[in-house]
Order: sequence, then structure tokens, then C-alpha cells
Amino acid sequence: MTDLSSQPAIEITNLTKVYAGGKRALDNISLAIPRGQIYGLLGPNGAGKSTTINILAGLVNKTSGTARIWGFDIDQNPRNAKNSIGIVPQEIVFDPFFTPFETLENQAGYYGVPRDRRRSMELLRAVHLEDKANAYARTLSGGMKRRLLVAKAMVHSPPILVLDEPTAGVDVQLRQQLWAYVRELNAQGVTIVLTTHYLEEAEELCDRIGIINHGRLITDKPTRELIAMAQEKVVQVTVDRDLDAAPDAACFEKVELSDPRTLTITYMKNRANAGQVLSAVQASGLSIVDVVTRDPDLEDVFLHLTAAA
Ligand code: ADP
Repeated sequence: MTDLSSQPAIEITNLTKVYAGGKRALDNISLAIPRGQIYGLLGPNGAGKSTTINILAGLVNKTSGTARIWGFDIDQNPRNAKNSIGIVPQEIVFDPFFTPFETLENQAGYYGVPRDRRRSMELLRAVHLEDKANAYARTLSGGMKRRLLVAKAMVHSPPILVLDEPTAGVDVQLRQQLWAYVRELNAQGVTIVLTTHYLEEAEELCDRIGIINHGRLITDKPTRELIAMAQEKVVQVTVDRDLDAAPDAACFEKVELSDPRTLTITYMKNRANAGQVLSAVQASGLSIVDVVTRDPDLEDVFLHLTAAA
């Protein structure tokens, strides 16, 4: 028998989804999300992120391909697959007449969690909603509702938590709280998958990132490797006198005069290095007073990769 614990948290093989009407939302995607990680599924709007999550959640039927959750095939073992994953949906949907406490109790009942093993109050505490336990859900703010959704996704203690665009409409402070909780869960061993189109978010949180565009997986790599793929580097050079025009050199990809004494130079790190760029500035008769370099971020990689796809 196969040892399930050696399998990825989520394994998707040749997954395709064609919606009624003919839209091909997923086109033969294969992807393995390792256990214990915070994994970011990135892509522009309409890329196919929600479709992927909804197939895993059992809300959308796939057209072809297979998906395994914690080793359980979603077709052959739907109950175990479902019990292994908690999903925080993009849309906020609650019965407005239940309190947060009741909402969690109902959800636990739905998953068949016995009463003595329910932990509704503990979950409410974890998402800072303890004092709202008995308020009507409709009186909660948007941020509170989202936190309640996170608690709701965790009632059956799944080993995987999926957050679909978790910070849409969430203010900065709540976002930080949400991330703190997500990190805490991850430290306890929960595998986290989040979809986002905010690159900074993925860059800050995720160990590994997959990028999808037009229903295809264009890359799947550790975050650090992905950032290293950005070839464009920018260096800002301050010189000792005012300039009328920026000098040019073969190793510059682009050069701009940001102010009379500051040159913003873009170069491709596979073709030149900072030393060559600075030598070229000096060779044009200028003295350098200061230098600032900027590391490429995911935005650069993302634009580069989605443009190429
Ligand atoms: P994302 O979550 O990355 O924004 P989605 O998975 O929501 O992308 O959508 C992928 C594509 O499938 C989009 O072109 C979208 O318009 C289309 N789509 C999503 N849901 C449906 C549906 N129920 N019926 C038809 N087309 C859909």
C-alpha cells in the first residue's frame, strides 16, 4: 500500500476545465504542493485560480484530469479528500441570523465533529472574535466576517487550509492579523495555499509560488528562485554636477535623468554587472557621489513571465 504521508498535500495532474459555453478555464494543469508549506497560487484576474480551488472544494466539476488532497483522490475518496481541506471562499456567505459561535457549531456538525471535540471558542479566540461570539453575524464588519470564515474553514482541523483571495477588501491592520494567524497555523504544521493577484503578499508569505495565466501553469518554484529569475536590475547613480542629458553606454538597457544629478539606469544582469555600469558612467566623464541599487521583485518576474506566455 502507498504511504499517504509521503505524498504532496495537493497533487493535480492534467487538470482541465471547460465551462458550459466553452470557456477553457484550466488547460491541462499539473501541480504538486508540498506538505508543510505556504504555497501561493498567483495569476491575473481570470487566470483560473478560483476554478482550481473550487474543483478541490468539490464545488465545480472538472472536465478531465485528477486531483488528490492529502493523498486522497477527489473522485475515488471524496469524503476523506473533503475532510483534509478547509477552504476560505472569496465571497462572504453566512446565514445572517446565526451568531459566530453558532456558525462554527453548525459547521462542526456538518463535518460530523463530535461535541466534545469541537473547539468553537478556541477558534474564535484565535481570530480575535471572542467578544463577538454571541453577536448576530450580520452585525460584524467585513474584516470580522472574513476572520470568521477562516475559523469556519478550520472547525474540522484539516491539515490543509486554502484561502481564496483572502485580503480582498481587508484593511492593512486586519491583513497583518490574518497573516499572523496563517503563519501560526503553518508553524503548527498546517499546509497553507493562498490565491492572490497581489505579488507583495505572495512574496512576503509564501515559500513557493505557482503562476497561472490563461488556465496554464507558467511557473512553479521556490519564491527565492523566482525572484532571482528577474533579469532586470536598476541602479540609481548620483553624480557631482547637473546634467542636461543622460549619457548612454552599450551595457545600459535604459537610462533616464530622474533629476539633474541622478541617473536611473536599467541593465540586464545576464549581460552586465553593476561594476561595468558604474565604469561606463565614469568613462563618460562623470564623478559618482552615491549609488543605490534596487533588487528585482516578483512584479518584474510576473510581468516578464505572463508577457512571454
Ligand atoms: P481567477 O480566479 O484566476 O480570477 P477564475 O477561475 O475565476 O479565475 O476564471 C477563469 C476563467 O473562467 C475566466 O475567464 C472566467 O470568466 C471563466 N469562468 C469562471 N467561472 C465560470 C462559470 N461558472 N461559467 C463560465 N465561465 C466561468
